[in-house]
Amino acid sequence: MKAVVIPVTPFAQNCTLIWCEKTMKGAVVDPGGDVDHIVKAIEEQGVEVDRILVTHGHIDHAGGVAELADRLGVPIEGPHEEDRFLVDGLADQGSRFGFADARAFTPQRWLQDGDEVSFGEETMGVRHCPGHTPGHVIFFDAAAKVALVGDVLFQGSIGRTDLPGGDHDTLLRSIREQLWPLGDDITFVSGHGPLSTFGQERQSNPFVADRLFAS
Ligand SMILES: [Zn+2]
Ligand SMILES: [Zn+2]
Repeated sequence: MKAVVIPVTPFAQNCTLIWCEKTMKGAVVDPGGDVDHIVKAIEEQGVEVDRILVTHGHIDHAGGVAELADRLGVPIEGPHEEDRFLVDGLADQGSRFGFADARAFTPQRWLQDGDEVSFGEETMGVRHCPGHTPGHVIFFDAAAKVALVGDVLFQGSIGRTDLPGGDHDTLLRSIREQLWPLGDDITFVSGHGPLSTFGQERQSNPFVADRLFAS
């Protein structure tokens, strides 16, 4: 499995192109906007995109989904249906944040905890990780030791919980019960900022380090 991060939108959101090296088939995760730029990156890598994956319904992650799906003629998978209110409201979120082209969409599949998504000969697991939004999902490959976690966890921080449907305690639970069991050696791509590993965050993250929960 290979991946490149394509920063998009004024929020510098880490759209990720991920693919199977054997078949060169892949997926675009969180195409928040700048769709021309994403299409160019896909062409440069020579990847045949066969699906779009969405972690959650915020504009910077989902604002370009409908346009990219139309242009590539591919299905959309995710987020969890509890983010439907955000996905339905994308045009509205777009006009508030200056994304003129953002449109609502209906994914071919709303994802649930325990689902799998695949492209080429690669398969990734799905975990439902509410807290930043109620329907946030993350994607992981236990063998490749990689996870795409959207706005659940960042290097040195966690997702905001002051937006509609956010909840701080739920987010902490998602991180500790859904992410940590995947393994300390998992490298994760966040929705914003640099890469890190779960092990590093368990040591030093000021919100979710293990020592903060020691009893
Ligand atoms: Zn978000
Ligand atoms: Zn974001």
